[in-house]
Amino acid sequence: MSKTDWITQEIETLQSAGLYNRIRTIDSPQGAWLKVDGKRVLNFCSNNYLGLANHPALVAAAKKSIDEMGVGPGAVRSIAGTMTLHVELEKRLAQFKGVEAAITFQSGFSANLATIPALVGKEDVIFSDRLNHASIIDGSRLSGAKIIAYEHNDVKSLEEQIRANLNQYRRALIVTDGVFSMDGDIAPLPDIYEVTKKYDILLMVDDAHGEGVLGKGGRGIVDHFGLHGKVDVEVGTMSKAFGVMGGIVAGSAVIVDWLRQRGRPFLFSSAMTVPDAAACLAAVDLLEDSTQLVDKLWSNAKSFKAEMKTLGFNTGVTETPITPVLLGEAPLAQQFSRELFEAGVFAMALGFPTVPQGKARIRVMISAAHTEDDLNKGLEAFRTVGKKLGVI
Ligand SMILES: *Cc1c(COP(=O)(O)O)cnc(C)c1O
Repeated sequence: MSKTDWITQEIETLQSAGLYNRIRTIDSPQGAWLKVDGKRVLNFCSNNYLGLANHPALVAAAKKSIDEMGVGPGAVRSIAGTMTLHVELEKRLAQFKGVEAAITFQSGFSANLATIPALVGKEDVIFSDRLNHASIIDGSRLSGAKIIAYEHNDVKSLEEQIRANLNQYRRALIVTDGVFSMDGDIAPLPDIYEVTKKYDILLMVDDAHGEGVLGKGGRGIVDHFGLHGKVDVEVGTMSKAFGVMGGIVAGSAVIVDWLRQRGRPFLFSSAMTVPDAAACLAAVDLLEDSTQLVDKLWSNAKSFKAEMKTLGFNTGVTETPITPVLLGEAPLAQQFSRELFEAGVFAMALGFPTVPQGKARIRVMISAAHTEDDLNKGLEAFRTVGKKLGVI
């Protein structure tokens, strides 16, 4: 027996259950088309909503910053890693989002790990949407606060849980994803806000899939609902629509100031790199200059979703460019994904435990980088495979 035999056995269990994740390798820049495992395929997988991951303006800004400032930040933000680029990026993000202040982190994941434990602790309670992202769940667990899940997007359930539990705790936090990445539905933030106001509870939204997508010119979910100044903490990421890497927390000056003092990934993990920060600044420039990319994303998404429905596919409750194609059992979704790949379309199958049992799906991620011709090719492949497998 070796000390790692149990891991080998676990992996074999995953493999025999069809749950072992074989990771495909991309050998091209991100874009509407990718070279995947040596094959050129239409990209329906990435979160590169606006096509910025390989945008010339971002690439040029990153290169220029490297020539001027090198590559690495050299330290954590609080010791010697805060560079003018970080400060400038935070100032610009705050302006873009119409908030008092913003702070950046290495990723959206670390933004959640930083924020939740800084706001609540052992004597406190977190009311959390049942379908919240893993990084919210992990941040909540790290905080030591009691976690109470309410039913997905169900404000009545939220209020019931508050009534039953709030008075047993010192402080409370309500936290929800803005856009739910598996179904593409949007949190009912105005109603949630009313509840937070009624009970005087801090409100935090993780808008990772809404940043650069929702609101005027991609200003996010708070802008989408006109809730400026009412949401205490807006977490975002620059790894999706912004096309780069990095987390954001936007909100009141006092909370951002507190995160600089108490956000552990800010204090104990190095800063965003020079080219990342410069490329993110270029992304803010682009979004402030024009709504063209965001508009293109939405028109692509609307026409693709309408055509998929006409073909007879079930795209569920999506309200965003995330387009789930509900298929039922995981083996069917996996076969569908393989057949699409053979037909030159790269779209991932998602099954349990990422989504509930019996709700396996293909998830199509629409981007502004797709042309009308690309979308038509994708639809044609879905039609062919859907007929072949008896789905439509
Ligand atoms: C993708 C995602 C994250 C993680 O963002 P990264 O910047 O990739 O770490 C966090 N929260 C939600 C809701 C997400 O969808």
